[in-house]
Amino acid sequence: MQPYDIAIIGGGIVGLSTAWQLTQKYPEKSVLLIEKEGDFGLHQTGHNSGVIHAGVYYQPGSLKARFCREGAAATKSFCREHDIPFEECGKLLVATNKVELQRMHALAERCQQNDIAIEVLTQQQLQEREPNIEGLGAIFVTATGIVNYQKICQKLAQLFKQHGGTLLTDNEVIDLNETDDRLQIHTVHKKTNAHVFESQFLIACAGLMADRTAAMLGIKTDFKIVPFRGEYYQLPKKHNQIVNHLIYPIPDPDLPFLGVHLTRMIDGSVTVGPNAVQGWKREGYGKININLKDIWDMVTFSGFWKLLKTYWKTGLKETRNSWWKSGYLQEVRKYCQHISLSDLEPYPAGIRAQAVMKDGSLVHDFLFTKTARSLHVCNAPSPAATSAFPIGKHIIEQLDDLMHHTENSNNTI
Ligand SMILES: Cc1cc2nc3c(=O)[nH]c(=O)nc-3n(C[C@H](O)[C@H](O)[C@H](O)COP(=O)(O)OP(=O)(O)OC[C@H]3O[C@@H](n4cnc5c(N)ncnc54)[C@H](O)[C@@H]3O)c2cc1C
Repeated sequence: MQPYDIAIIGGGIVGLSTAWQLTQKYPEKSVLLIEKEGDFGLHQTGHNSGVIHAGVYYQPGSLKARFCREGAAATKSFCREHDIPFEECGKLLVATNKVELQRMHALAERCQQNDIAIEVLTQQQLQEREPNIEGLGAIFVTATGIVNYQKICQKLAQLFKQHGGTLLTDNEVIDLNETDDRLQIHTVHKKTNAHVFESQFLIACAGLMADRTAAMLGIKTDFKIVPFRGEYYQLPKKHNQIVNHLIYPIPDPDLPFLGVHLTRMIDGSVTVGPNAVQGWKREGYGKININLKDIWDMVTFSGFWKLLKTYWKTGLKETRNSWWKSGYLQEVRKYCQHISLSDLEPYPAGIRAQAVMKDGSLVHDFLFTKTARSLHVCNAPSPAATSAFPIGKHIIEQLDDLMHHTENSNNTI
């Protein structure tokens, strides 16, 4: 059998957006996408807040800042073109004390540097916009939206197939070999039937397994994926109108995640969350799920212990609030007193694939690595769902370079 021109590992939003854009750019090339689950977007993409971020927080000039701004526009335009419901409901970042008020002004400056339209609201203007929210002031980000990212995945998969792409679900990539002229991709179908596919080039968008797919090709990386659970609650239907916008706290610049927020979902419900708790199984969504291999990979990685040393206090607080609902409630009651303990109804958690370096630092920006014939997305944290279209475009530009380079070196042999 002829090798495929390009194979992609991972049917999350990053893999699918790349796959679809590839078939548009190279209609003559054969492209194979391999996903280990029975459907698409079942991991990070299907367990997130569903927010189309505007790009408030990110370091000006970083890939995150650029991709988020471009991605928000591309996501909305894709939804318009393909009749996928989304809503530009806007978001409020609410300051609840003097320290947060100072941080809020710093964030407002960052928005300007990132070219994001905002309004700074006084306490009274905040009250007028959101009668159920208390704070000393807020930043109103008009362009923030909401969508169901799994719906985008379904559409991308359908378009990819229509444009001649091959989709393979229930196939897990378990090994990879790269030679001078091709790659061999070893898979198992539903944990039993083994198969080997061949391709000229490979793109790995494996999310929570990104370090493992890179390791299959012997790539020496100085990071590991550490899973962070993001636990949510859902408010009862009677609270579906409790807020008009998305309500976020002002984040602590020393902490990596955004803090518990109130999110209006595209189906009309409202969720509270997510927190950020240490996960003990990369793809285990239950609170007490553990996986010995995942734990072993963490505890034998020096970066994990250095990370713990830096964030142990925050980690303890998050863990306490994860088990003690009243603690979790306090986080949201800082800005919304109308929610009580009985309002916190169960909702599925998500798990973030966070790349951590050997020195214990968290990788904040998108991170890629490569071999002569493969490209790997090593870190695609939030807002990677928003940014999936520009990430895909960026990957294809990198792939073009790889293809030209290999062509040239073959010509000189
Ligand atoms: C709690 C939470 C909230 C978030 N909120 C937002 C938000 O509101 N807005 C936003 O923009 N972003 C948000 N994010 C981030 C965003 O969801 C992710 O960054 C994005 O979904 C990453 O997409 P992905 O395709 O890289 O990974 P994934 O969606 O995890 O997809 C990876 C795929 O690869 C497959 N795979 C892995 N290994 C193999 C293998 N060996 N063989 C075959 N297949 C394999 C997996 O099964 C999976 O389907 C959030 C994330 C979390 C966890």
